[in-house]
Amino acid sequence: MINKVSRRQQKISDLLDYRSVDLSVSNSCTNNCLFCANRPDGLAFQPDIKKIKAKMRQAVKQGFRIVEFSAMEPTRNPDIFRLAEFARKLGFSIVHIITNGQSLTDIQFARNLILSGVNKITVSLHSSDKKTEAILTRNKKSFDYKIKALKNLTALKKKYNFILEVTMVLTRYNIGHIPKIVLLCRYMGIRALNVYFPRIHGNAKINFKKVVPRFYLIKKNLIGVSRRLPDRVNINYIDIPPCIFPDNKERERVGIRLRKRIVRPSEKSEKLIQQNDDVRQVKIKGERCRDCFYFNECEGVFREYVDAYGWREFTPVQSS
Ligand code: SF4
Repeated sequence: MINKVSRRQQKISDLLDYRSVDLSVSNSCTNNCLFCANRPDGLAFQPDIKKIKAKMRQAVKQGFRIVEFSAMEPTRNPDIFRLAEFARKLGFSIVHIITNGQSLTDIQFARNLILSGVNKITVSLHSSDKKTEAILTRNKKSFDYKIKALKNLTALKKKYNFILEVTMVLTRYNIGHIPKIVLLCRYMGIRALNVYFPRIHGNAKINFKKVVPRFYLIKKNLIGVSRRLPDRVNINYIDIPPCIFPDNKERERVGIRLRKRIVRPSEKSEKLIQQNDDVRQVKIKGERCRDCFYFNECEGVFREYVDAYGWREFTPVQSS
């Protein structure tokens, strides 16, 4: 058991060597996901390139080595290529874009992103079929766009060196879709699937009952999933506490958040972000968590979830 504990601790300290800054560089998106945490109170304006560059300079001085361009849809910022180029010149070792894929249906656009310095691309794909994706993203064509983008990126991977991952947000609509999405990733040679619990903010808060899944259902659906699926796809669970999983193999897949700072360059929205954007600040642990083996490293559970459903679904883990 000591070996297992030290391996886990080693893994955590390895991860903490990376510091990541998450920059919101766009105020628009072609989708309007039921669980989007950035709508309806997203950025008021398209962020100014000078301000984004200033935030990047500051982050590099503070030791951040990874930059993520995210919410809303980063490829909608017309300066995205210049920003990626600037980030690499500044010294970020990973320049990461998280995208809904629509702009990357144009292979030349995708190639230009990579040539500008983007070396990690995560495409959000929330289901294994068109109908569910359309319900979740409120865009009838979003599934086709995402598959086309993934095909383009898979083709580009033969020539260029970059990391390609897929992210899904778990909802009441897609809990059972993980196995099929993993198989799709495997088929396309994608090595990692990141599975997020929805952050209960914005649209997800408005659609809480409709969209936010219950942890007991997640538990029922995820039991044994990692054992049944091909090892070639690494599944990471984010914002799902370890106690939801039945055994160590699956608990090991619970990702701890990297040392991450989330920044939006629009002054107008800065206050909102300070209050809400670091999800660790809106999570809590219960009294019973004190007895849990994971007490120190677990981030806890979203407060809104516990306010609605209590602590019954969370049973402290006695040992690892
Ligand atoms: S600390 Fe609490 S929420 Fe976290 S894994 Fe343990 S029982 Fe679950």
